[in-house]
Amino acid sequence: LVSRKKKAEDTVITVKGVEFGGSSPILIAGPCSVESYEQVRAVAQNHVQRGLRTLRGGAYKPRTSPYDFQGLGEEGLQILKRIGDEFNLVTISEIVTPGDLEMASKYIDVIQIGARNMQNFELLKAAGRVNKPILLKRGLAATIEEFIYAAEYILSEGNTQVMLCERGIRTYEKATRNTLDISAVPLLKQETHLPVFVDVTHSTGRRDLLLPCAKAGIAVGSDGIMVEVHPDPDVALSDAKQQLNIPQFNEFVDELIASGLYKG
Ligand code: PEP
Ligand code: MN
Repeated sequence: LVSRKKKAEDTVITVKGVEFGGSSPILIAGPCSVESYEQVRAVAQNHVQRGLRTLRGGAYKPRTSPYDFQGLGEEGLQILKRIGDEFNLVTISEIVTPGDLEMASKYIDVIQIGARNMQNFELLKAAGRVNKPILLKRGLAATIEEFIYAAEYILSEGNTQVMLCERGIRTYEKATRNTLDISAVPLLKQETHLPVFVDVTHSTGRRDLLLPCAKAGIAVGSDGIMVEVHPDPDVALSDAKQQLNIPQFNEFVDELIASGLYKG
């Protein structure tokens, strides 16, 4: 069902007037974790000033250590709902449990399935039965074929609103957090009709590489870029090292516009 051979034209997913997979690339930006109303609001306010429409923020955080911040859960989704309504933004947040999908659908506009759950088949099947767009991220060490099959699981249950996100894969290279597989973008665009995004934050894990990798992602045909922005990254409860602060984020957006690859 995901194959270009079955459907030649691109899938475009429209949410609150924002086109995912439409004619121009978009930015999906926001903090790694939802920490408070004020924290998310500061990012959202800047989004509005910059004409950005899509806000991410994690409420259920899949952390390596059980002792790290695990997210605000439903309260985090309620914060996203409040801010999404207040600023007319499309909200995206990761859900990790099949049983939470229906509850989450009341609060957020797009459900993210994270890298660690790309092959959580019960979650994929349940996501196939909700009436919400799904952003599916590539697994930590998943092949393209496994990634495509994971998307197929969702479509096979009836939900056709699926988008893909390359977020780097684990390799022997330690200079970056993961290795951004840039060739995955044109490959996924050729093989499937789904929108494809590039997450520059979790792939590189390095602030100094966000801009060049975002340019590369758009240049090879992605439908947009995911990037993390936090009002005060130094005190962030997750991914403190690689989130941009708001002035840095604005510079990132300006540079992308100046490159001609992104229209703003
Ligand atoms: C995220 O986007 O918040 C996240 C945890 O990313 P990934 O699943 O790609 O690691
Ligand atoms: Mn993060």
